[in-house]
Amino acid sequence: MSIVIRDGLVITATGATPTDVLVSGERVAALASPDSGLADRWVTGADQVIDATGRYVIPGGVDVHTHLEMPFGGTFSSDTFETGTIAAAWGGTTTIIDFAVQPKGSSLLSALDRWHEKADGQAAVDYGFHLILSDVNDATLKEMDACVDAGVNSFKMFMAYPGVFYATDGDILRAMSRARDIGAMVMMHAENGIAIDQLVTEALAEGRTEPVHHGVTRPTELEAEATHRAIALAKVTGSPLYIVHLSASEALSAVTAARDTGQNVFAETCPQYLFLSLDDLDRPDFEGAKYVASPPLRPRSHQAELWRGLRTNDLSVVSTDHCPFCFKEQKELGRGDFSKIPNGMPGVEHRMDLLHQGVVRGEISLPRWVEITSTTPARMFGLYPRKGTIGPGSDADIVIYDPRAVQTLSVQTHHMNVDYSAYEGLQVLGRVETVVSRGQVVLDRGSFLGRTGHGRFLAREPCQYLH
Ligand SMILES: [Zn+2]
Repeated sequence: MSIVIRDGLVITATGATPTDVLVSGERVAALASPDSGLADRWVTGADQVIDATGRYVIPGGVDVHTHLEMPFGGTFSSDTFETGTIAAAWGGTTTIIDFAVQPKGSSLLSALDRWHEKADGQAAVDYGFHLILSDVNDATLKEMDACVDAGVNSFKMFMAYPGVFYATDGDILRAMSRARDIGAMVMMHAENGIAIDQLVTEALAEGRTEPVHHGVTRPTELEAEATHRAIALAKVTGSPLYIVHLSASEALSAVTAARDTGQNVFAETCPQYLFLSLDDLDRPDFEGAKYVASPPLRPRSHQAELWRGLRTNDLSVVSTDHCPFCFKEQKELGRGDFSKIPNGMPGVEHRMDLLHQGVVRGEISLPRWVEITSTTPARMFGLYPRKGTIGPGSDADIVIYDPRAVQTLSVQTHHMNVDYSAYEGLQVLGRVETVVSRGQVVLDRGSFLGRTGHGRFLAREPCQYLH
């Protein structure tokens, strides 16, 4: 099977150049300048020729933060590996990394087995796993080694959610030391959960039960404090650190300061923090529940700083933290008590389009768009150059993107298995036209042509930003 993609503008992290692309089997076989005439020869005998005139040709998106079928507060996030990866493909994302959850008291390897069972034969695009480490003890610390051997070398810990995933500073110190020794990465949910729980208790006691109080009881100071503390613990142990879903400018300042001293601290943000705000959490008639996620949406004033961070690489990745819960019956569990609203928002389908608006508005360049949504995530989590770029030998994960198409985001047209859109009615410029996943056209002009079971598990190498 061979595909020739002609006359498009190939965009990678290093630039944007008119280039023809030859795909052979599952890989990119060659690139050529359009005036070399090479594509004329490739076309002879090609199985498929895609005319990409006027289109961007970009590496498939890499979303390193999803929660498919994740248990939370007595329910499960509503996308399965099937529906979630199909929605990803619709949005131009061809690789996801999902979080396998270690329930307290169980082993890490059994958690991995459980996630393999969920994903095996179900995914439409390639996938890898991180592990959520909820118990730190001699046995789990030892097991981290075996996880690394199994291609899972990043471990998420929580400074939030006491009684569920919460890790003490001592736990974090131990896990970071272990991670340092075995070349693994600790990923941190940095919010001070002990203080937040106290604020939540006070709010509920005073009858402040609406969704907006989810945001009010998780002030930016408590994200900044936890971020700063995580950075200090990483410094003491000499471990690298990756801050997930950074939302507040004060937390970004802590990351920036650490990076300025050369410490291996990295951070991601998510589209919801760039495009939505605390005002959405304050929507009437319980509609704010649709926007409950942690950290919470912030006042709009934080967004300029986040875009600044994306330009200067203090924020190096944009992931979605895709964790959908339906409004009916799931979000509604928290009517009358915001603390019972399942935490999470849908987004895996819209990341590439939303970040393209950053290009349209002049916040980021075209190569930077590709870098923060594909190249850096692939490097950060040991998938590059197989994923994250278009080059000879790379997996043929390619998106043909029409930068001039206009679309309106809506629950009526999205493919995520959730009964609302957080971006309902938002008009965006640009749209995914064709998606190639490992040499297979899985989506073309509004038709899904892929299949569940096409997606394969990706055993990952260590973070490629460490030496
Ligand atoms: Zn998450």
